[in-house]
Amino acid sequence: NHSPVLGQITFDKVSFTYEDTNITALTDVSFTVNKGETLAILGRTGSGKSTVLSLISRLYDADGGVVKIDNENIKDLNLDDLRGSIGFVPQDAFLFSDSIENNIKFGKEEATHDEIVNVAKKAVVHHNIENFTHQYETILGERGITLSGGQKQRVSIARALIKDAPILLLDDCLSAVDTETEEAILNNLQDFCRDKTTIIVSHRVSSAKNADRIIILEDGKIIEQGTHNQL
Ligand code: ATP
Repeated sequence: NHSPVLGQITFDKVSFTYEDTNITALTDVSFTVNKGETLAILGRTGSGKSTVLSLISRLYDADGGVVKIDNENIKDLNLDDLRGSIGFVPQDAFLFSDSIENNIKFGKEEATHDEIVNVAKKAVVHHNIENFTHQYETILGERGITLSGGQKQRVSIARALIKDAPILLLDDCLSAVDTETEEAILNNLQDFCRDKTTIIVSHRVSSAKNADRIIILEDGKIIEQGTHNQL
C-alpha cells in the first residue's frame, strides 16, 4: 500500500450544520484516534455518528473547527489520496447484480481469488458463499440470488477490507448480524486492523467490545468519552 496517509484522525471542536435542513448534526466535537487504534462511536439514531464519518471522507466540510489527518487540515490533502486511504463500509450495503467475487473485488480490481477468500473469511461470510452451488461465481441481485441483510453487510465488509487502506470506517454495518457473528467479525477486525485506524459506528454497545476508546454522542455532542472500563 502506497498511501501517503498514515491515519491519525483528529477532530478539533468540529461543528456541522446540514444546509438544506438547517439541522446541526455536530457541535464542538473533539477527539483523536491514533494510527493502529479503534474508536467506537455510539449513540442513538440521529445523534450525528454518520456525520462524523462523512466529514472524514469529505462528503461535507466542517463549518466550525478543524478535521485533521496526520495533523494536517483535511482540506489541504489531495481528495483522491484521502479517499484512496479510506475503506468505508456504509450503513446500507450496495451490491451489484454480478458475481459475489466481482462484488468483493469492487474494492480492489486486481485482487486475486485467494485475497478475496481471505477477506471473506475475515468478514465471516466465506462459509455462506461456499454453500452456494456456484460459490464465489454466484450471481447476486435481479439476475441471481438474494442475500440476507446480514450476508449483504458481510460482503460489504469484505469489499472494504480488500482495499487494505490505512483507515477503515464502519457505519453501523453489523446491525443485521447476530451477536455471535458480530463478535467473531470484531475479533477478526482487531487482528486485521492492527496497524490501521478504525472507527466503528454503532447503536449497539457490543460493537465497542475491542475499541481502544469510546465516544457517546447525543444530539451532536459528545456526552461521554473514555475506555471500555471507564464508561
Ligand atoms: P443513524 O444511527 O440513524 O444513522 P446517526 O447517529 O448516524 O443516525 P446522522 O446520520 O449523522 O446520525 O444524522 C444527524 C442529524 O443530521 C439527524 O438529525 C439527521 O436527520 C440529519 N441529517 C443526516 N444526514 C443529513 C442530510 N444528508 N441532509 C440533511 N440532514 C441530515
